[in-house]
Amino acid sequence: MKYELLKTEGKAKRGRFHTVHGVIETPVFMNVGTVAAIKGAVSTDDLREIKCQVELSNTYHLHVRTGDKLIKELGGLHKFMNWDRPILTDSGGFQVFSLAGIRKIKEEGVTFNSHIDGRKIFMGPEESMQIQSNLGSTIAMAFDECPPALAERKYVEDSVARTTRWLYRCKEEMARLNSLPDTINKEQLLFGINQGAIFNDIRIEHAKRIAELDLPGYAVGGLAVGESHEQMYDVLDNVVPYLPQNKPTYLMGVGTPANILEAVERGVDFFDCVYPSRNGRHGHVYTNHGKLNLFNQKFEKDMRPIEEGCGCPTCRSYSRAYVRHLLKAKEMLGMRLCVLHNLYFYNTMMEEIRDALDTGDFAGYKKRKLESMEAGED
Ligand SMILES: [Zn+2]
Repeated sequence: MKYELLKTEGKAKRGRFHTVHGVIETPVFMNVGTVAAIKGAVSTDDLREIKCQVELSNTYHLHVRTGDKLIKELGGLHKFMNWDRPILTDSGGFQVFSLAGIRKIKEEGVTFNSHIDGRKIFMGPEESMQIQSNLGSTIAMAFDECPPALAERKYVEDSVARTTRWLYRCKEEMARLNSLPDTINKEQLLFGINQGAIFNDIRIEHAKRIAELDLPGYAVGGLAVGESHEQMYDVLDNVVPYLPQNKPTYLMGVGTPANILEAVERGVDFFDCVYPSRNGRHGHVYTNHGKLNLFNQKFEKDMRPIEEGCGCPTCRSYSRAYVRHLLKAKEMLGMRLCVLHNLYFYNTMMEEIRDALDTGDFAGYKKRKLESMEAGED
């Protein structure tokens, strides 16, 4: 279980992370399968075809519906969804704080109502670790509070201090769970999460504190929740240098292709975001010449693939005109084809980033990619 830092260019990192479910080449984009499936009728066979390295599932969603105990009984998430490569599960914290109904935060954890049936649920660091252990994911995320981006300083200070105390409890609980005889993945890894909204001094202090725990990886959380892109880049400029360079650095929930390129430059090498799948479901597709809205009339007779030369299952077989027709007719296949193309676009961009870092040309690649995407198609 180790992270090899293969190469750097400025702050940008090219790494290789060895896990019990195989190697992750970084920088990597994790494909978000909220309830153990990518929305848009994408199967794990599809994921293999579109170059997905890591699937991400949501702890909160799987806990409230179907249930982690049942999934454990059925052999864990890998077996359940037939995926033998790495899986990362989030801690449930983000959904608890953003999705769930009336909640009470205490030192022990959070009481909230399920958004499915309103039933009262308690989740603290121990419960989050137990659920993720039941799922048997490769990487488990620490249970944290994600304070609103524009929260008051005093609130953020108290929240971050509690998140630090929770991290110690997460680490202890995971060590206990990993030692039990019936645990599915006894080599489950815990990543810590840096918080502090847009207060750089709070974030830096927190980064130093959590780095002391010597965890296998660290995330920057609580960004892309309402602050500007400039504020987000400023936080990364300030905080990433205080996270261990010889461990994965994960920017949670970010972002557009441009956000990813900017963050790689600042030393981030793990990403996840719902944009490619969500946009795909709405007929918005990414290309090297900008984003296209396939509902647009101008694609009605366009027999070209979404992107010339794209190797995805959609572009290999279908035209813009056909995909547009499917979307207009509300056929499920339309959504599916767009999601497949978009995830392939993201996964391919990460491959290009790794190749550019390997040859020492990341700066040049980034400039060309951004210029091409901004220039548009016509
Ligand atoms: Zn394609």
